[in-house]
Amino acid sequence: MTATYTLTDHGITCHLCGFSSANPNDMRERYCGHCHVFHEDLDIVLRELSALEPMGPIGYRPETVLQLVGLIQLALRHPAVTQAIRATGVRFIEAAREYFAACPAVLDVIRRGDDAREDL
Ligand SMILES: [Zn+2]
Repeated sequence: MTATYTLTDHGITCHLCGFSSANPNDMRERYCGHCHVFHEDLDIVLRELSALEPMGPIGYRPETVLQLVGLIQLALRHPAVTQAIRATGVRFIEAAREYFAACPAVLDVIRRGDDAREDL
């Protein structure tokens, strides 16, 4: 498992966002003020994830896939979404577009979901 931060005598650098801090509290608590995370909490999550096998296929109903696409499209508009998480969301939406390839009306709903002006 890769560490999510580097700590030196001069400060702490977050490997998630690149933010560095020389604040003694941040250094002592292994905290990133940009991500608002305690690295030791994050390390526990990463350890748990690394111990798991990949999740098997999920048989989502078509309407559930479309709902998830809409949720992901909304989430992708959040300014704090990282590049890696954005790529995951985009991959899911692209897979859904392939799944709905024979459904032009559904594809149009998904296309409109990419446009924030279509948000209700
Ligand atoms: Zn950070």
